[in-house]
Amino acid sequence: MTRAMIPAARPLIGQEERDAVDRVLASGMVAQGPEVAAFEQEFSAQLAGGRECVAVNSGTSGQHLGLLAAGLKPGDEVIVPSFTFAATANAVAVCGAVPVFVDVDPDTFCIDPAAIEAAVTERTVGIQPVHLYGHPAPMDAIVDIAQRHGLWVAEDAAQAHGATWDGAQVGTFGTFGMFSLYPTKNMTSGEGGMVSCDGPEIARQMRLLRNQGMEKQYANEIAGFNNRMTDIHAAIGRVQLTKLPAWTARRQELAAHFDAHLEGVTTPVVREQATHVYHQYTIRIEGASAAERDAFATALREEHQVGCGVYYPTPVHRLPSYGLELDLPVTEMLAREVLSLPVHPSVSDEDRDRIVEAVNTVAKAGA
Ligand SMILES: *Cc1c(COP(=O)(O)O)cnc(C)c1O
Repeated sequence: MTRAMIPAARPLIGQEERDAVDRVLASGMVAQGPEVAAFEQEFSAQLAGGRECVAVNSGTSGQHLGLLAAGLKPGDEVIVPSFTFAATANAVAVCGAVPVFVDVDPDTFCIDPAAIEAAVTERTVGIQPVHLYGHPAPMDAIVDIAQRHGLWVAEDAAQAHGATWDGAQVGTFGTFGMFSLYPTKNMTSGEGGMVSCDGPEIARQMRLLRNQGMEKQYANEIAGFNNRMTDIHAAIGRVQLTKLPAWTARRQELAAHFDAHLEGVTTPVVREQATHVYHQYTIRIEGASAAERDAFATALREEHQVGCGVYYPTPVHRLPSYGLELDLPVTEMLAREVLSLPVHPSVSDEDRDRIVEAVNTVAKAGA
């Protein structure tokens, strides 16, 4: 018997998205225009507590421009977790600034406030927490550290559309918050990013930087980029926004089922102050070596046709692009132990039951 592979991730693009793209193509105006403006306003109302939002062509561009708008200069230090996607640190490095890598909390996979405190120097200008897998970083503690040391906070909310901490949406705590709209994220525009800004001055800088430094055509005020979103992409994103609440609810429902039924593996912790939106549902094979975890993943895929992923197998500080030897024991341990199961909204009840049975079977065999 051959069973279909349950994919680790699957972007959902429906007829409504196609119709929206058609409408833009038929209009003949496809570059940044009214769809982008409408998308910014709708995203702001739904996901950013009404803060002004600026759309760009990727999450990474959003982070880069946000850091420039916040005033990041060459030689400045920004504290970042090493257990994340490389883009978090890259945005700092391409500004000529220094990402200072710190350790994370083994329960939530998010940056550890005590590690932030220990890493502050006279060159530190900001903290860039990541709401990893859709679980918010502990923003009350992070904002407190930032205020005491006169630092700004830049939230990497690439994976956390709609997550909350103490009742407030992520992306509303820092100087800016970046959301990715890449196809595998909780919602997509094809490629794209959205930046929620703390006030009109940051938003204005973002708008200048994304469009060659122009607010008025050919009146360039500063040197900027072309990091604009197109109306084609914005039209897709607007439709996806309307579907996101149901998708998030399905992710949470699947996660609750996994929490209750998985055996022999460590299931993800959710802090009392947090609403988790499960970009990933990430288990730990506690005490495993990387090879043992990889064998677990191979068994899920090859014996049970259950797709899964390791995010991320190499801590960012050890990637060739940084090549640092640092003592970050929790990050190293998680890089060996984590495994993410399919939790996207197209996982059916039947798929869900197959995933539970597969994980429990592989865990039992390895115990
Ligand atoms: C996806 C992602 C990014 C980058 O977003 P893009 O839209 O792919 O540029 C940054 N940080 C994290 C944690 C991500 O998952």
